[in-house]
Amino acid sequence: GLGVPKGHAANKPHYTIVTDSTYPPFEWQMSDGKLVGIDLDMLKAIAKVENFTYELKPMSFNAAVQSVQAGQADGILAGMSITDERKQSFDFGTPYYESGVVVAVANKSQIKNLTQLKNKTVAVKTGTAGYDYAKSIQKQYGFKMVAYNDSSMMYDVVRTGNAVAAFEDQPVMAYAIQQGVDLKIITKPASTAWYGFGVKKGANDALIASFNAGYKKIVASGQYDKIVHRYLGDTG
Ligand code: GLN
Repeated sequence: GLGVPKGHAANKPHYTIVTDSTYPPFEWQMSDGKLVGIDLDMLKAIAKVENFTYELKPMSFNAAVQSVQAGQADGILAGMSITDERKQSFDFGTPYYESGVVVAVANKSQIKNLTQLKNKTVAVKTGTAGYDYAKSIQKQYGFKMVAYNDSSMMYDVVRTGNAVAAFEDQPVMAYAIQQGVDLKIITKPASTAWYGFGVKKGANDALIASFNAGYKKIVASGQYDKIVHRYLGDTG
């Protein structure tokens, strides 16, 4: 037959992958528009070794979760925690990064523990494990919750004093602080869970299989560690 010209993508599977628009060091957009981070570099490397192509769509985490459930995207790679609840509606790839939820306050804040959050307002991110964790201890500690779609919005309101604390994943919060966000972490990681690549349950077995096969290869070749090291240095 005529065959497909070399480099032509027509014979490769093509996917739509959604991600969080602002979740460094896992994914974010640099000022020049380039999408970078551990998740996105990992996806690029996996697609290369597994021979598939994809279109990346950054959006709020909550919108990303919903677009996969609505069948508008094939997969989500967004520092997404593998939870029992999500396993009801998602299939997850190989767990790749362990994380937990921490509470951060303004650097100049006197607040040292959860008890001191009583009658105060805390910032949470819609649709996240951090939101669920805050909800689960809200009655016990007696705080009010205000929800935002972006992590950067959460940090801003804590910085400006519209909320006293933010609930965020530890590696993400630690990275932001290291990059100069003027907050400090006051709790140990809670609700610990691993991140996983997600597809709608039962709807995308081939993509999960390719992701896992590719992930295995880039771990074995040392490429995955290189990517983590690129963003976290020796602390990752
Ligand atoms: N790991 C958290 C979750 O899965 C937060 C993810 C995110 O904000 N991108 O809910």
